[in-house]
Amino acid sequence: MLKVAKFGGSSLAGAEQFRKVKQIIESDPARMCVVVSAAGKRHKKDSKITDLLYLTHAHINYGVSHEDIFSMIEQRYYGIRDELGLHYDLESEFEKLRGELNQDIPVDYLVSRGEYLTARLMSEYLGFGFIDAAECVFFNYDGQINYEKTYAAIAERAVHSPRFVMPGFYGVMPNGAIHVMTRGGSDITGAIVANALDADIYENWTDVSGILMADPKVVKEPRPIPYITYQELRELSYMGASVLHEESILPVKEKNIPLNIRNTNRPEDPGTMILERISGEEGDANRIITGIAGRRSFTVLTIYQKHIATDTRIIRKTLEMLEACRVEVEHITLGVDSFNLVMPTDQIRDRIYELIAEIKNRLQPDDVKVEDGIALIACVGRRMVSVPGSSAKLFGALGANNINIRMIAQGSEEISIIVGVDNKDFERTIRTLYDGFMHEGGSKA
Ligand code: ASP
Repeated sequence: MLKVAKFGGSSLAGAEQFRKVKQIIESDPARMCVVVSAAGKRHKKDSKITDLLYLTHAHINYGVSHEDIFSMIEQRYYGIRDELGLHYDLESEFEKLRGELNQDIPVDYLVSRGEYLTARLMSEYLGFGFIDAAECVFFNYDGQINYEKTYAAIAERAVHSPRFVMPGFYGVMPNGAIHVMTRGGSDITGAIVANALDADIYENWTDVSGILMADPKVVKEPRPIPYITYQELRELSYMGASVLHEESILPVKEKNIPLNIRNTNRPEDPGTMILERISGEEGDANRIITGIAGRRSFTVLTIYQKHIATDTRIIRKTLEMLEACRVEVEHITLGVDSFNLVMPTDQIRDRIYELIAEIKNRLQPDDVKVEDGIALIACVGRRMVSVPGSSAKLFGALGANNINIRMIAQGSEEISIIVGVDNKDFERTIRTLYDGFMHEGGSKA
């Protein structure tokens, strides 16, 4: 049994968090590979090391003194090391780095030091080997990860050092220069390590006990999701629920490695298990829906044309025009004599009237209408297709609460139902759906 455990910034924010990580690792000998982010916030008003490093770089660039910020970074690391009684030679590391702090320092290199030093301290603390991502995570020049080369290099390094700590978030370009991923990229590094070593499970340790069924800012104490499929997670993330870096899914999904979101501060909680497929018995079989998420502020463009469903040229041409304006179309619904295009308002706001004029001019439809202020809410659940009455329940709950549904769409693979409501009904809709599905018969918002 081999487990890859990735710890996020809040799990490494200070000595106290390091202690929790050690306990977690030592409580299960299968946890052999550890991937770390840079130390994060210890409390709400604290700063993440990664942010401070970006800030240091900006100060250097603008010729403003970076001394205060950089010494804050140093103090964080010295604090962790000294409190845990470690001996890692941070003095030499910082002396070298200070010598490089000038206009020529590449931002990616400087920022990567957050993960690098956190991993160095963690490797000494756990008594595990250290594998530098600079030696085994490879990017192509276009910034894409060279997966095959990376998997081979990690597997090779792990033979000599089966228990190791590796910094997340960065790797190297073909010319050897350090390159960082997008923010939150350590999730990707963890997934890559899990794939490279054929791990039995990829644990992603953070500060919440899994993915919640709804946004806690909207629903009071939403329940965590015990089991979710990758596809469901994708639908939820797309609609605004953020948990994992999107690119971290692919490497584990490819090998069908379960991904478990866990809470470093409550290691006894089972968290959320993300799987390719979930058999009937796993999880709470009575739950019809897995989660609810949504986004506000969409614009709906409706184009009327007799028999549009049989003559689709106008649809194609409209889409081409939108593509030329680089507008993402989120949903398309088609009726007999009309079709709707749903787009994020902020992408179309400046161009909408120009576009309508162009459509009228070039395509001569019967009519065009536009409406904005629409929120989309997705009710996601793999069981919805097979449980009769799911949508009746959904619409019934909204009707009973006088929520006017402006549009309805179905997400991919029939695992979600998306309703469009007025922006002002956004929160009430989410609460109504949550209550409607979680408490039988109780559909009051
Ligand atoms: N430390 C980086 C960030 O703050 C990467 C990560 O945490 O995964 O985005």
